[in-house]
Amino acid sequence: MIVMKFGGSSVADAQRIRHVVGIVKTQLDQKPVLVLSAMGDTTDHLLEAGSAAFQKGAVLIEQIENHHFDTIKKLKLPNQVRKEVSALLEELKRLLSGISLLREMTPRTKDFLVSFGERLSIRIVAAYCNSIGIPAQACDAWDVGFVSDSNFTSAELIKESWELIPQKIAPLLKAGVLPIVTGFIAKDLNGNITTLGRGGSDLTATMIAAACKAQEAQVWKDVDGILTADPRIVAKARPVETVSYEEAAELAYFGAQVLHPRAMQPCIKTGTPVLVKNSYNIAAPGTRIVAVLDKKSVPVRAITFRKNVTLVDIVSTRMLGQYGFLAEVFSTFARHHISIDMVATSEVSVSLTLDAAQDLSAVKKELARIASIDIKTGKAIVTIVGNVRRSSEILAKAFKTCQLIGVPVQMISQGASKVNISFIVNDAEAVEVVKALHLDFFGKL
Ligand code: ASP
Ligand code: MG
Repeated sequence: MIVMKFGGSSVADAQRIRHVVGIVKTQLDQKPVLVLSAMGDTTDHLLEAGSAAFQKGAVLIEQIENHHFDTIKKLKLPNQVRKEVSALLEELKRLLSGISLLREMTPRTKDFLVSFGERLSIRIVAAYCNSIGIPAQACDAWDVGFVSDSNFTSAELIKESWELIPQKIAPLLKAGVLPIVTGFIAKDLNGNITTLGRGGSDLTATMIAAACKAQEAQVWKDVDGILTADPRIVAKARPVETVSYEEAAELAYFGAQVLHPRAMQPCIKTGTPVLVKNSYNIAAPGTRIVAVLDKKSVPVRAITFRKNVTLVDIVSTRMLGQYGFLAEVFSTFARHHISIDMVATSEVSVSLTLDAAQDLSAVKKELARIASIDIKTGKAIVTIVGNVRRSSEILAKAFKTCQLIGVPVQMISQGASKVNISFIVNDAEAVEVVKALHLDFFGKL
């Protein structure tokens, strides 16, 4: 069997749904399980409706309602699904009235609220499949074994899911039915609806693929695969043919937002390949994400960057020995729940980077007892993802490029996961550096 996942823009309206089901139809002999996101920007619209209820006491779901009913009409679906969709929309209205009366919106309520998007989309697509002769069944994730912890808005699946999912999915496939599963959502052990974090449908798909030992997980997007750089910055960016799971996870974290950062985790356990394809351009080969790469492959896979980073230089005032100093620095950040991205240390100093959004005043005050601290804002992390065993070659080239364009490199670090080399430049220089590096490593083409 295989898993095919389609994101919001792939199922945005009646036309897109027809197109996507057309793609599925060509692979029915592979016994696919379908995972879908909410239609188009429905998740955002639900969150907007939630804020309107919470802030203004208004229940506004006309846009969501019209779009789903309009799609049902355009796909000429039977009355039964219209009833199911109406029932869900009524429930949604009751929830929004509740929010508007209580003027309260907890993370648990938020997850319940956004769950409607996926619950609506699978019912519509399943009805469409059935109407054209593909026997399909809409499955809410909790009915096919998705059990999570209660960490609302970014829940983790619990280990029992690994057994439950294949138990529930196998009989459907055996009966020749196409299961169509809600991405993104699950239920905790108390029966509350949870979500796996924005973009979480990818994780739903890779989890089903890994737990059911699928041949592959196909993740259908609106881009040609994982690209060598952000195409808005590097016009010549092109799809990467193959990447390792670690590289894909690294790229997801550093701005190339093609996949959910945690989506690789289930497949790493089982070695299940993930194929990223473009539903708008079926002919494009896409990107294959696998456990082990061909040794001969090129040293650099992609170049990404993240802006708005703060660089903190902490120099010991020699009140503590080396071990005591480093321990004190990191535990201070931990106590204040400030997460750190890059670190470089020497015996008496630490340089580290973090997201500019975090408030550093308390940490600064505490650390002042043992160190002098210099905080520099307006920095960017440029990351080269690739084969770090060839790091000297990569670094030599990268430094030469930076020198040629006159950009000083302010700190460098090699990712612990051994697939990235990152360095810090000024925010204003980041785009120029990425462009130059791309030209250097991937040529003009
Ligand atoms: N619909 C959810 C979101 O927009 C989940 C997903 O698309 O993967 O974040
Ligand atoms: Mg979405």
